[in-house]
Amino acid sequence: MNIVLLGPPGAGKGTQAKRLQSEYSLPQIASGDIFRAIRRDDTPVARQIQEYMDRGEYVPDQLTIEVVLKRLDEPDARNGFILDGFPRTLPQAAALDRALEQEGRKVNVVLYITAPTDVLVARICDRIICPNCNAIYNAVTKPPAYDMICDNCGHALERRTDEDPEVVRVRLDTYAKQTRPVADYYGERGLLCEIDGTLDMEQVHENVDSCLVGKSAR
Ligand code: AMP
Repeated sequence: MNIVLLGPPGAGKGTQAKRLQSEYSLPQIASGDIFRAIRRDDTPVARQIQEYMDRGEYVPDQLTIEVVLKRLDEPDARNGFILDGFPRTLPQAAALDRALEQEGRKVNVVLYITAPTDVLVARICDRIICPNCNAIYNAVTKPPAYDMICDNCGHALERRTDEDPEVVRVRLDTYAKQTRPVADYYGERGLLCEIDGTLDMEQVHENVDSCLVGKSAR
């Protein structure tokens, strides 16, 4: 099954993607993780990506589409994938559809996880991530067992540079302007499943599961 996870930063896409990855044995392909990996190199492209991310702006479509489609061509993604954070603009959604269609593939379901802005800001500002294994923690609701050390791999945890309140506001604005229309795009195609991201995690899991069962039964 080819799944797209859509929703504002802080809605819980990453958490759901990780769970779906182990439950359905599908690779999680997160455009943000791909960019964070590229940005560690000392290249002009890496520096450009860093600047966009630090400002809370989107990386330009051409570059984003190129890196994500390349990843989707790798063998582990050919029998299904979970796309987390891509597509985020209408040109990205159209490019994804075109690329999949050329190979007789398509997006099967779009999980649209939503939450009100005040919940998103609070969640994002408390978020801590592992730069090594991409595990996600929350300083208040899901702290690591040892201060700023990853439970999974023991690496030092960090806060993201794009998660200070001013940058978070830019990211949420960018989302509203550029990504919300992507939900309508998939809605018109009958692929959208709206999930309330404010419910407790178990309830969100259940709602995601029933949506996937419903879509695969069609
Ligand atoms: P994320 O980890 O998904 O919140 O992404 C972090 C940052 O990476 C975003 O704020 C953007 O700067 C960049 N990024 C990730 N995915 C995309 C995308 N699909 N289009 C453009 N920029 C992206």
